[in-house]
Amino acid sequence: MKIPFDNSYATLPDAFYARLNPTPVKDPKLLAWNADLAKVLGIEGEDRNVLAQVFGGNLVPEGAAPLAQLYAGHQFGNYNPQLGDGRAILLGEVIGQDGIRRDIQLKGSGPTPYSRMGDGRAWLGPVLREYVISEAMHALGVPTTRALAAVSTGEPVLRETGPLPGAIVTRVAQSHLRVGTFQVFAHRGETDHLKTLTDYAIARHYPDAEGPMRLLRKVCAAQAELVAQWMSFGFIHGVMNTDNCTISGETIDYGPCAFMDAFHQGRVFSSIDRQGRYAYGNQPQIAVWNMAQLATSLLQQMDDKESAVEEATEIVHAMPDLLEAAWLRRFAAKVGITQTTEEDVALINELLGLMQTDGADFANTFRALCKDNARDQFTNREAFDAWAATWRARIEREPEPYAKMQSANPAVIPRNHRIEQMIEAAVEGDMAPFERLMKALATPFEETDPELQRPPTPDEIVPATFCGT
Ligand code: AMP
Ligand code: MG
Repeated sequence: MKIPFDNSYATLPDAFYARLNPTPVKDPKLLAWNADLAKVLGIEGEDRNVLAQVFGGNLVPEGAAPLAQLYAGHQFGNYNPQLGDGRAILLGEVIGQDGIRRDIQLKGSGPTPYSRMGDGRAWLGPVLREYVISEAMHALGVPTTRALAAVSTGEPVLRETGPLPGAIVTRVAQSHLRVGTFQVFAHRGETDHLKTLTDYAIARHYPDAEGPMRLLRKVCAAQAELVAQWMSFGFIHGVMNTDNCTISGETIDYGPCAFMDAFHQGRVFSSIDRQGRYAYGNQPQIAVWNMAQLATSLLQQMDDKESAVEEATEIVHAMPDLLEAAWLRRFAAKVGITQTTEEDVALINELLGLMQTDGADFANTFRALCKDNARDQFTNREAFDAWAATWRARIEREPEPYAKMQSANPAVIPRNHRIEQMIEAAVEGDMAPFERLMKALATPFEETDPELQRPPTPDEIVPATFCGT
């Protein structure tokens, strides 16, 4: 098989990474392969055994320059001076047929110098979870890392509950640069490395941005758009630490994330997020907090500190408005409105308030609204009727609102209970639920598999998700 590597990160100073190969595994088997993505990447060869060897980490392909990246980050608000790829190895980069440079990274490929207490491995559950949800996000049009392959290792992984089947996911990203990549050099006072990193990030992601403050502005804009999209699909990332916040503006790190069923602004799934720091409704303000950390790091390299601080402050302070505007645009589309006015904010918030009081299903309520039959989603129907009357009068002024709403309100989302059922089956060797989910989620705005639109029954509800590393 051939991967057309063109590596750039590996040419950066040694301090940015540790070079090492993946640790070979006992019996790699290919569980999933993303042929469409492979095509974009220009990867040739489809021998499943060879793919399993390569994406299981047993065979380092020609042209690869395997390394683990260094980074730091704020985890739940506390700074951790050294994180880094503890269980991931970047094989290298390719420039795709679309001209975009992307990283190809194995996750779960064995220990690295940054593993700390971890074993460098992943188990099948989180691997398939990331595969399904990241590809679902892509199909929804949300910027995200992607999944190229899932390989089972034939080795057990020890977790709290006992031994679990090991697996490796191959993640493809426009880069793995994070806020935490900047933080590590800024906190260490390594200004030369910080400058090198800044230049690299600009060249790779925002070539028209001149200087660190322009870069900051671009990343703020990208993150504002991203988080507004998460909000509009009822997505809760779950672990918005600065090491999980990309410079490219792609969603990364599908750990304890989830799509909400019953709507609530305070919804949290992650079992480790006890304070609700990363609750659904907090996500915009956390994005701003993360951008403030990026600003602080970028400032370390500025010669004219005073004016730079002023500019950085202005950029970060402007972000809530960006978020608000992006949020309004996305939610307006969900209710059939194109040209928004001041009153539309209240109209949308009123609907969300009713949904929250009734615990209405987020995806199904908006989807039903596309056919104007959302009434059944509410217990307080009078309150909904009153809202709907105002709404109908409002969208009379819109051309073809219902058709537009269909492309903003997915029919199928990767619901938590379906993900859990898929994992349980996969552990038993049955990949049929995985295939079924992948098929329906590839065209989420079409009603191809109505059963997957159903919310969980009380005994199917998955109340919490685990980082489950
Ligand atoms: P995450 O919560 O996935 O963003 O991971 C935070 C940090 O923990 C990163 O530095 C990871 O590489 C590291 N990590 C997570 N799981 C493991 C593991 N099983 N072995 C080694 N390092 C890990
Ligand atoms: Mg992470």
